[in-house]
Formats: sequence, C-alpha cells, structure tokens
Amino acid sequence: MVNEDTKVGSTVESICSKCKLVLAHLVVSMKEDRVDKVKCNTCETIHKYRDPAKRLKAKSVVRRSSGTKPG
Ligand SMILES: [Zn+2]
Repeated sequence: MVNEDTKVGSTVESICSKCKLVLAHLVVSMKEDRVDKVKCNTCETIHKYRDPAKRLKAKSVVRRSSGTKPG
C-alpha cells in the first residue's frame, strides 16, 4: 500500500527540507503516480517529496583533505 488517491492538491506527510521535520505538505506535482513536488504547509517552501519512512541516514562525516592543494 503506497498511494491511495494521492494527487495534486492532496495532503501528504513529507520531510520538509527547511523545517527538518515530518509535516503535512500539499502535493503540487506528480510523476508517474508518485509524488514529485510538495509544498510545506508550515513554511510554504516547495521542494521534492521526501518519504518520511526513509529517515535521513546518519552520515559518517569523513574529514579528509582530498585533492590537490592550490599553490
Ligand atoms: Zn517547512
């Protein structure tokens, strides 16, 4: 069960890239039965849909001076 009548104008839960929270979003565009872009009801930012089920993985921050230094 993925989508049940989700369409443009529907409200879905998504991770807001600005609020960094799972919030209600308005679907603004679809792509092949999938939600493409959404608008945050809280900050009104339009961004790509982010499935709240797929939590942001903890990135292992590797600090390494890669590449060649200028000069
Ligand atoms: Zn937001």
